[in-house]
Amino acid sequence: MLPEIEVRSPATGDLVGTVPNLDAAAVDALVARARAAQPAWSRLPFGERARLLRRYRERLVARADEVAELSVRETGKLAPEALFVDVLGTAGVARWCARRARAVLGRRRVPSGFLLHKRCYVVREPYGVIGVISAWNWPVLNGMRAVLPAIAAGNSVVMKPSEVAPLSALLQREIATEAGWPEDIFLIATGAGDTGRALVASALDKISFTGGVETGRRIAQQAAQRLLPVSLELGGSDAAIVLRGADLARAASTIVTGTFYNAGQNCTSLERVYVEASIYDEFLARVVEATGPLRVGAGDAVDIGCITTAAQLTKIEEQVNDAVAQGARVLVGGRRLPGPGRHFAPTVLVDVRQEMDIIQLETFGPVLPVVKVRDAAEALRLANDSSFGLGSSIWGPKRLAERLVPEVRAGMTLVNDAVLNALVPALPFGGIGESGTGRVHGDDGLREMSWARSVMVDRGGGAREAALLYPVDRLGRAGALAAVRLLAGRGRVRLAGLGQLLRHVPRLLRRGSQGGEQ
Ligand code: NAD
Repeated sequence: MLPEIEVRSPATGDLVGTVPNLDAAAVDALVARARAAQPAWSRLPFGERARLLRRYRERLVARADEVAELSVRETGKLAPEALFVDVLGTAGVARWCARRARAVLGRRRVPSGFLLHKRCYVVREPYGVIGVISAWNWPVLNGMRAVLPAIAAGNSVVMKPSEVAPLSALLQREIATEAGWPEDIFLIATGAGDTGRALVASALDKISFTGGVETGRRIAQQAAQRLLPVSLELGGSDAAIVLRGADLARAASTIVTGTFYNAGQNCTSLERVYVEASIYDEFLARVVEATGPLRVGAGDAVDIGCITTAAQLTKIEEQVNDAVAQGARVLVGGRRLPGPGRHFAPTVLVDVRQEMDIIQLETFGPVLPVVKVRDAAEALRLANDSSFGLGSSIWGPKRLAERLVPEVRAGMTLVNDAVLNALVPALPFGGIGESGTGRVHGDDGLREMSWARSVMVDRGGGAREAALLYPVDRLGRAGALAAVRLLAGRGRVRLAGLGQLLRHVPRLLRRGSQGGEQ
């Protein structure tokens, strides 16, 4: 195991920094510190935790340029991308958690049903120490969207950021400390996959993972050994469906953005577009027209930045080449670009078939396959023919498009829009199928970091139900049946139950007094 990991800029190859590659003992020590700090943190009132979350948001925004610049240097994305998603997106989650934690997690009265002499409520309790393992594509938001609700709920966190972009995570801890968070409630375990494995094996109470399907599967298997709760935000191959009657100018430009933003390295990037035959030619012409002028490179005067890792660039290239070898045609791009930096040209593909890897696998790159379909039914069938179920996008007349929403097999569906839901902190974010389980963002994101404690309090005074239950023959089978009819029946059944129970009362009283004499 290498003692250190070098972080190099995908745009220039320059060294951005080095971080320790922590072993299991070091990870265990961090978890122990987080464990020791958690009880005091969880005892703070919601208001105080919310104040510290708001303070974190203020410091994050105050240092926005520096945060974005580091994300750019680690991943090769563009500064506006880092500002909008890593900074603005994270600030939104912090605000949501500060605002909603008390309402979502605080004491909630629930009806006590027919047990009128009880008072019932639910409180959401923190798990304890949460392990967060995150991916590199949004090095701030990917981790912090799990860290912030965990912290808001009263947990402490040990985060293992991606080895590709760990410096952004260390900067987040620095900002949180500056905001006044207690020293040990948010700790960072830098390292590669083995460090992540050690974190899952450590004395955690829950793991929240963002990354690829295969790693997610491995983590779920490892966690299953000791029934460690897991939430998984995994990959996707999001489909867009474009129907007759859609605003094609808006559909084409938004789908182009939804595919190429961050060089396609978004879990909810659009990876395949199914277009009704009657509008296919016009839609395709508009997509080609919008893609052609996109500038690739680094700096402020380009539209598409780097492919962050060499492995990712190879994967994109192989999938495109494989599709072409099987008969797909490249209308725009289709190839790796010369350096400096790792780049792939924004690519539009046609004559793509459903069974090709470019459709069935996650590409995670700037590639847009456009497929002609007969009608909405065929579009839905092909969109749903995927092991993933993360995001989706339907374009068409609003009422028709909204009617189709329940037909799409995906955790998130946008109507006449693409990818922007990630910037709405109220909307739960996550997938179904191989795209994972659990949610970040929204009230569900806060619930994900807590468990429900049920509390029932006897109001005191009234009849003791134990006296009704024991000895069993005091009420007997007939009395129990009458009670069930009264309490759960309707109309005549209920009335009959009442009558039967009333007939039972003298017997109950008599037996009751006999019971008292013993
Ligand atoms: P990855 O699965 O290779 O790595 C993710 C993290 O897991 C890294 O921190 C890595 O070090 C760690 N890891 C690797 N092996 C491990 C192990 N055995 N045990 C514990 N941790 C281990 O993914 P990546 O390449 O960093 O990210 C790209 C993937 O993330 C894509 O599939 C993308 O779709 C997905 N992603 C999903 C979402 C979402 O919200 N659903 C968001 C962003 C990225």
